Amino acid sequence: MNSNQESSEVICEVCKIQLDKIAQVKHLTNLELAVLTQPKRVLNINIPLIMDNGVVKIFPAFRVQYNDARGPTKGGIRFHDHINLAHVKELAFLMSLKCALVDIPLGGSKGGIKVNPRELTKGELQRLSRSYIREFVDFIGPDRDIPAPDLNTTPEIMGWMLDEYEKIMGKKAPGMITGKPLSIGGSKGRVYSTSLGGAFTIRNYFNSISKKEKGTTVAIQGFGNVGSHLAKILDEWGYTVVAISDSKGGVYKKSGLDIKKLLAEADSGKKVQETSVGEKISNGDLLELDVDVLVPAAVENVINSGNIEKIKTKLIVELANGPITTDADDFFEKKNVVILPDILANSGGVIVSYFEWVQNQSNYYWEEEEVNQKLEMYMKRAFDEVNKLKNEGEFSFRKASYVLAVKRILQAEEDRGIIVKKK
Ligand code: NAD
Repeated sequence: MNSNQESSEVICEVCKIQLDKIAQVKHLTNLELAVLTQPKRVLNINIPLIMDNGVVKIFPAFRVQYNDARGPTKGGIRFHDHINLAHVKELAFLMSLKCALVDIPLGGSKGGIKVNPRELTKGELQRLSRSYIREFVDFIGPDRDIPAPDLNTTPEIMGWMLDEYEKIMGKKAPGMITGKPLSIGGSKGRVYSTSLGGAFTIRNYFNSISKKEKGTTVAIQGFGNVGSHLAKILDEWGYTVVAISDSKGGVYKKSGLDIKKLLAEADSGKKVQETSVGEKISNGDLLELDVDVLVPAAVENVINSGNIEKIKTKLIVELANGPITTDADDFFEKKNVVILPDILANSGGVIVSYFEWVQNQSNYYWEEEEVNQKLEMYMKRAFDEVNKLKNEGEFSFRKASYVLAVKRILQAEEDRGIIVKKK
């Protein structure tokens, strides 16, 4: 501890719990901890919206810019009726770590509106999205803070937000937001980039232990953007996807699901259990299958103290953000269950968002193949660095990922003269 540096009020409690674990491995000073446990800027407002029927409703909205030592902050905008400021801070912290871990020159942020978008008409949704940009316009921008889609926000919403921003600024600025439609500056490959990055992470891990991929059995929880693209990619690569689910439940087939058929039936509007590709299985039972790879790709905290004893897989790849609770994580570490953590495994999305921003800033657009090749290179570099640190320190992939990310953020703080290292 450095006695010259004062500890400040801890603002993000969950971040502090994670950082305390890192501090055991990498000794952090009070100032370093204070810099890491407190978001740089927290914006918390209420947006009034005139509904179609003339009634005014108020929607709480948030933007947290957690750490910008490495560059402009980057993070999604989530529309959800359970969102709160504490959670946005935690997600912004994770974005800061994720960007540092994969070594892109960006900091971390997150935002959202407390709303159930399904209860709004399309016109109301567009007006609310535009209001979010108007309210936060002084704090966002291509060189300041760059939003992106997150839960319940889409490329279409990014398009409305870009349009609002450009109208206010009186100039084109496609790099102020990513995840846009291709016609207004989106990147090729962005739609499936999180899934492709996750698939590369599985491949990198198998290569590191000299395990062959063909025939590897996989269960995927979640059949949204991430889960459905991952199933398609792994199926094409020769993996055997034995189970997949959406919020209503899943399907299972021991010899492997016909993924092409599943995707075609789902395209016609069917829920996973309404398709004809396998027998029905609950979301809970899917998590407990004896598979080579288990991929939670839906929501948070699905693997917790209630089901840890029943989890049989030896490899969990976190494509959802935070699908494993802290106590479950500790349990798996002791049981030598390998977890490829969210900030590594699902970083493909933010990497291609970074590529999108680079393309916007230079007004020069890449072919899909080039985007995917670069993504593969970034994912391999990040995996190799984490794996090396893991093997040197004899700790988990999660701890190694956090240690590396924290080290990079602190290096940037030090190089800016914010943190002075003791000689
Ligand atoms: P999505 O909304 O497109 O899909 C979510 C899927 O999860 C749907 O199939 C839904 O039916 C299912 N689901 C919802 N509640 C469930 C439950 N209780 N049990 C089982 N399944 C349930 O979302 P997405 O974009 O695919 O994101 C999935 C996860 O990946 C989220 O945790 C998100 O934060 C994370 N993530 C997404 C991206 C991205 O680029 N989309 C990037 C990084 C992380």
